[in-house]
Amino acid sequence: MENKEEILFAWGDNKRYNSQSARLKEEYGGRVQKVSISAGFTCPNRDGSVGVGGCTFCNNESFTPKYTREANNITDQINTGLKFLKKRYKRTAMFVAYFQSYTNTYGTLETIKGIYNEALSHPDINGLVIGTRPDVTTNEQLDYIEELAKDYYIDLEFGIESTNDIVLDAVNRGHNFASSADAIKRASGRGFDVGGHMLFGLPGESRESMLNQVHDINVLPLQTIKFHQLQIVKNTIMAKQYATNPDMFDLFSKDEYINFVIDFMELLRPDITVQRLTSEAPPSIRIAPNWEAGRIGDIQKEIEDRMEQRNTWQGRLYSENK
Ligand code: SF4
Repeated sequence: MENKEEILFAWGDNKRYNSQSARLKEEYGGRVQKVSISAGFTCPNRDGSVGVGGCTFCNNESFTPKYTREANNITDQINTGLKFLKKRYKRTAMFVAYFQSYTNTYGTLETIKGIYNEALSHPDINGLVIGTRPDVTTNEQLDYIEELAKDYYIDLEFGIESTNDIVLDAVNRGHNFASSADAIKRASGRGFDVGGHMLFGLPGESRESMLNQVHDINVLPLQTIKFHQLQIVKNTIMAKQYATNPDMFDLFSKDEYINFVIDFMELLRPDITVQRLTSEAPPSIRIAPNWEAGRIGDIQKEIEDRMEQRNTWQGRLYSENK
């Protein structure tokens, strides 16, 4: 029988995908834990500067912890988050502030400097994870983030969601894939991590069309990637569409998603680290799909077990020439 301990993949451990958390653990000598922050940014796809109504799938409550909506300022939010996280994760090497809600580069340089600096001035915070749209990230902001990266861990993450412009248009994304590719290229090579988010299962996609997108991703200078399955959540345009026309959606069952995300990783460039394999909107606002039992950690374990059963790993089918 194969000895599990002896398998070492290109990324240096025996996990079957190149895990960002394992990479950071190695680099910083322990767990790197995010503390979610709501910084009061808005979104250009809601306030009319790019679009109105927002992306049809978006309800920021689905990824914003309640405490960040209740606390007043960044320091209070960090303190509230840390109180809980320090109890839960006793062996954390480093905490980083996670600007997750809305568009966290949507402001003047002075505004973002003030916000990022407030987080970094907290004695327990040693870095930033910044989630944003590609179309509002300027070179001037990137220069500033590059300066910060000389002293802190920085991960700048762009919502790519899909590489199919027809699909992006149909979900009112307000930017195309070329915009994502451009921002990722402008941000890369500056001494910080550049990440992308993919959202699988949008209307107009097929399993095959989504799988083919891996080749668009592989040619980008990305360090890290997150995967999410489409969930229909309350108070979104999609919730209305789902109520009136459910046939326009082909939502993944849990089993289908596990196999799909493994298929995608088999084709993914092996040096891109994977930060997230799945997501979970709070049950109180989730309409569909309702996968039976399983929090994120359980589903992650199921994906890892399935990779083992299939005896496969990230990049097994990757080819530079594709
Ligand atoms: S997903 Fe992001 S870009 Fe789209 S509406 Fe929501 S906050 Fe704005």
